[in-house]
Amino acid sequence: MRVRFWGTRGSIPVALTSADIRDKLAQALLAASGRRFASPGEAYDFASGHLPFSVTHTFGGHTSCVELENGRNEYFVCDMGSGARAFGAHVLAREGGRPATVNVFMSHVHWDHIMGFPFFGPAYVPGMKIRIHGCHDILEHAFRLQQSAPCFPVDFDQLSASIEFVKLVPGETREVCGMAVTPKLQRHSGDSFGYRFEAGGRSVVYSTDSEHTLDDPSQTAAFVAFFRDADLVIFDAMYSLAEAVSVKADWGHSSNIIGVELCQMARAKHLMLFHHEPANDDATIEGVLRDARRLEELTREGPALQVSAAYDGLEIAL
Ligand SMILES: [Zn+2]
Ligand SMILES: [Zn+2]
Repeated sequence: MRVRFWGTRGSIPVALTSADIRDKLAQALLAASGRRFASPGEAYDFASGHLPFSVTHTFGGHTSCVELENGRNEYFVCDMGSGARAFGAHVLAREGGRPATVNVFMSHVHWDHIMGFPFFGPAYVPGMKIRIHGCHDILEHAFRLQQSAPCFPVDFDQLSASIEFVKLVPGETREVCGMAVTPKLQRHSGDSFGYRFEAGGRSVVYSTDSEHTLDDPSQTAAFVAFFRDADLVIFDAMYSLAEAVSVKADWGHSSNIIGVELCQMARAKHLMLFHHEPANDDATIEGVLRDARRLEELTREGPALQVSAAYDGLEIAL
């Protein structure tokens, strides 16, 4: 199984500003002070080997959109955040005019999770099949509403692809083109649903926009079961623990620390921090990642849990 991250930011897309780029360049020049590079390759090696990730990259970017590939001929994608525009371009380029089927799995219909759909190229191509799966009754209504006048110039009915909405039931596993998919109800305003995907002996959990209360043992046990032995858990880590349990309690999101605890209990192999807070810059997100890794080391009892922070363009092979 392969996982590609097209959008990793929470709530609203965030672009690097000119000042951000200038600051990154200044930090890189300072770190390289006194060194000489004989070729672009040497400079590249220095940048990738010696500079912090927050100087050489950005955590992006677009709002939630994560692609899963299971080696079959249909596409799988979680959420249609603004990353769906780039994902759609990827589908069209890869297919080169051939029709294709895209299976979408929706966590919920908050704006940051549907805003990319009006810019999703395959929706405009005759012959393309788009199946939008989800557990909410209002799924189709939300997609139609955001493309209604006066908010968008192209009405949903004008889209050329064949678009179907498929209702899923939490806790019930369904087979979709070689992928076993199980949704789970999560605590979030208006409800959200996580998905556990299993194919070829690998498992990926997509669990965003989900608040966890540490004082509810039955909820914790249910999530530990949902994450059990997963090869990858994509986890809503919008806040720090202090924010999640104080000012931002009941805001419907979780933290890096809770992610580590749940994944350790579930013996998951890799925790991917996701849905980054839009107010956090790259250095802050790197700090959130560092804290999570430190906690994992300090509390490790069994095999190590790998901890990463998602960024647009990240690709993982499982
Ligand atoms: Zn969100
Ligand atoms: Zn939400």
